[in-house]
Amino acid sequence: MRIVTYHYVREQAPEGKPQLKVLPVKTFHDQVKYLKSTGRIVTTAEVLDKIASSGVMEDSDILLTFDDGYIDHWQNVWPVLVSENVTGLFFISTRAVWERKLTETNQVQLILGSVDSKEIISRLHQVIDEQRIRHDLLAPTEYRRLYAKAGRFDRLDVKYIKNMLQFALPDDFRTTIINQLFTEYVSADEKSVADALYMTVDQVKELREAGMYIGNHGYNHKWFDKLTAVDQRQEIDQSRQQLASIGLANDGWTMCYPYGAYNQETIRLLVETGCAAGFTTKGGETKNRLADMRYEINRLDTNDLMGDKQMQKQTLGARVR
Ligand SMILES: [Zn+2]
Repeated sequence: MRIVTYHYVREQAPEGKPQLKVLPVKTFHDQVKYLKSTGRIVTTAEVLDKIASSGVMEDSDILLTFDDGYIDHWQNVWPVLVSENVTGLFFISTRAVWERKLTETNQVQLILGSVDSKEIISRLHQVIDEQRIRHDLLAPTEYRRLYAKAGRFDRLDVKYIKNMLQFALPDDFRTTIINQLFTEYVSADEKSVADALYMTVDQVKELREAGMYIGNHGYNHKWFDKLTAVDQRQEIDQSRQQLASIGLANDGWTMCYPYGAYNQETIRLLVETGCAAGFTTKGGETKNRLADMRYEINRLDTNDLMGDKQMQKQTLGARVR
């Protein structure tokens, strides 16, 4: 089967943030229509039933998933799904929605979108030099040597900044520098930015009441594979509690690993807490007997779908960079 991942679905990147990847609403609608013409868009309940019974999905079956709890999903995606009479699975970063705090990923995206990457690197290196002794940091040249490697979707400078701010720097310093750069380059008012970016709790509830499915994307959008077992457990418990507060405790609890990052400990915790399925961001083949990969279910990014000739034709002109 094919499981597709979507993030931003909106007309254009937020003002002043031209580098954010967005999928225009019409393109999204065309993709849904195209996918429907090639197979059946199944419900999350069907998928979970098949996992529980070790049943087999069809090659042509499709599941649509939406990450991070963006307002786009309530505003733009939901109406399209309703008009096409299909449903989706929405993975929520619960702290972002419940506490109106930006995830670090979004903070970094917005920083990158607000100012030239050369400037960010020079500011970052300046702060590293200032704080080097206190936080036991490496020299900027050393960080560059270790972490300036181009990624699949990103230019070298951008990938370097992401690597540094997402995991290379020590945790306490990383959080401080992200907040500092965010305040300097994006906004001093994090809550308003969060309000413009994420659904509210009521909107999540509304999606569920309309027959959509809500999944878990962790509390604070962390790399699970870099957390201790205790911290992983806390991420799981806190996010589940927040979802439970709107009655989603036993709604076939499903997990989508932030950054697709997990380890054996994560899987052990999911088994222990009765999780029905764990979704990765790995693009590989999705087996039709999902029970065989129940905590390591692959998904295709909408960018990878663009490799499909037909899909390319359908989505020509889509802005994906
Ligand atoms: Zn995410």
